[in-house]
Amino acid sequence: MSYELCFGRDLERRALLTGWVRSGLWLVCQRCLGEVRIDVDASLALVLLKTEASASDLQPELESLVVGDQPLRVLDLIEDELLLAIPAIPRHDDGQCQTLPGVVREESAGSVEAEATAAAERPNPFAVLGALKDQGQGDA
Ligand SMILES: [Zn+2]
Repeated sequence: MSYELCFGRDLERRALLTGWVRSGLWLVCQRCLGEVRIDVDASLALVLLKTEASASDLQPELESLVVGDQPLRVLDLIEDELLLAIPAIPRHDDGQCQTLPGVVREESAGSVEAEATAAAERPNPFAVLGALKDQGQGDA
């Protein structure tokens, strides 16, 4: 993970935290359930406020973070930003999914059809029984 944070003041002379954070995260692909590495890139522009009340007069492009009198936990903040930047449905790029046995994939309609054809070619066990029965009757 790499990040860069810059502390400054906004136009209203409030504490302003800007920067970016980048990290590669291992997530579960929602298509094949395999592991997928997602590169997350989040940028920060936060006004640090002592109280919730003063959040109302912020410039709309700025997010606010109420820190109160607590020391700012930068790593928690970075973690939150990374979590927010994770895609809602992490998955491999098209064609990169792993094929896992037992996992029914959306695009498996073709193979289901092939399986049905294979079943039709197999001798029907009842037909075999029927043939034996006919044979027995012939001998009697
Ligand atoms: Zn996948």
